[in-house]
Amino acid sequence: MNLIMFGPPGAGKGTQAVRIEKKYGLKQLSTGDMLRAEVASGSELGQQLKAVMDAGELVSDAMIIDIIKSQLQTPECQKGCILDGFPRTVAQAEALDEMLSAQGKTIEHVLVLEVDETILLDRIKARAVQTGGERADDNEETLKNRLSVYREQTAPILPYYEEKGLLRSIDGMQSIDDVTDQIEGILSASQAA
Ligand code: AMP
Repeated sequence: MNLIMFGPPGAGKGTQAVRIEKKYGLKQLSTGDMLRAEVASGSELGQQLKAVMDAGELVSDAMIIDIIKSQLQTPECQKGCILDGFPRTVAQAEALDEMLSAQGKTIEHVLVLEVDETILLDRIKARAVQTGGERADDNEETLKNRLSVYREQTAPILPYYEEKGLLRSIDGMQSIDDVTDQIEGILSASQAA
């Protein structure tokens, strides 16, 4: 079972992905975490990535698609994966379809965490405190840009998956436990089917 966690920055994609990965034997693939690991390695590439990420812009489709392609082939993804932060552009969504179908796989659900944008700033600020300011992009100024990038480049993916009948709306304003319950309801129903 392959899933996409979809939603604006601060919607709770990563939090929920971690909660469901063990229960369903799936592997969380967070492109943001992978990029942050590259930044932390201190490589020259990492320095270039940091500039893009700190500005709240997207890194190139080609690079992200390459990263995901190699990850999808690992044994950890055998039972499926939870894509967290990918795809973020229509080109990425199309490339994902090609990669999966080449392996005889598909996306089962696109879980859309619906949240009121006004709470995102509070959540991002809370995360900045919890992580000791680990993410330079967790601040009000960058959030504004990340949100406009989300609206302009990422939200347009939704009709692509809607046409395929894959969108599952999740009320992301509920408590973390309640959001997990909603997701598990969808996944368990599809496993039982
Ligand atoms: P995230 O942790 O998912 O919020 O990602 C943090 C940052 O990493 C984003 O603001 C982008 O700069 C970059 N990034 C993560 N995933 C992608 C992606 N699929 N495409 C392009 N850039 C990405």
